Amino acid sequence: MLDASHYRIIAREGKPEYQGNLEARRVRVGDVEFGGAVPPVIAGPCAVESREHTLAIARAAKAAGADLLRGGAYKPRTSPYTFQGLGTEGLEILAEAREETGLPVVTEVMDVRLIEHVSRYADMLQIGSRNMQNFPLLTEVGKTRMPILLKRGMAASLSEWLCAAEYIARGGNLDIVLCERGVRCAVSRDYARNTLDLNVILSARQSCILPVIVDPSHSTGVAEMVPLAAKAAIAAGAQGLIVEMIAEEMDACSVLCDGRQSIHPRVLEEIVREIRSGLAAGVR
Ligand code: PEP
Ligand code: MN
Repeated sequence: MLDASHYRIIAREGKPEYQGNLEARRVRVGDVEFGGAVPPVIAGPCAVESREHTLAIARAAKAAGADLLRGGAYKPRTSPYTFQGLGTEGLEILAEAREETGLPVVTEVMDVRLIEHVSRYADMLQIGSRNMQNFPLLTEVGKTRMPILLKRGMAASLSEWLCAAEYIARGGNLDIVLCERGVRCAVSRDYARNTLDLNVILSARQSCILPVIVDPSHSTGVAEMVPLAAKAAIAAGAQGLIVEMIAEEMDACSVLCDGRQSIHPRVLEEIVREIRSGLAAGVR
């Protein structure tokens, strides 16, 4: 079993109000609340590629029922020769998209030196899988009062993930949402990008007081798998989703980042409808 003394601030253990239930600490981003009865849906492009591309996707996300807009202005790319994001221009486009749609913005920060800058535009800071154990970055975002979306490292154990969240919490920032985004698994690489670890959702919720959401896009890598993965995640206890999408008229092959796993707005609309009607029918 995990030793909760290493993540004592966020641990469920030792907090009487969180015993005998799976209640989570509520994390608010604008008017949206994580950890409540309705699982929020974050949707948008992998990366902000241009103003037109992002505004079109943001409008489609809003129309499909998303609650928050995602999109990377600074991208952690495996190859240094691929599109790295638009930087400040990307942040300005995200702010414009928020202005138009009203959707709060979730975007990644990769560099301690950019936390203040990104926070001027973002409503929630994403710490990506590759930075889950970037301890200086975790410590510094812990000193801010920005809500943090902490993705699980692609090969991180649950205890490593919880300890990463604890680094943030130690700075006094408890507005943390955990995100399972698939783990590296030798046997799944020929049909999917990663393996969606459905088991970790309940275990994480039992271990700590933070809301846990799922990214069905990076955990599958395949657009056709996203709706089932999203619904399976909700059925397994996920308290929200973060999904990559493109606009109706866009061709997945032409986007610069993660087109293969990006869904169309009608698919997102169906996911939102199905998870919300499942909730109404008491499937939880
Ligand atoms: C992303 O959300 O686009 C991303 C890079 O995710 P992850 O850090 O989970 O790979
Ligand atoms: Mn992506």
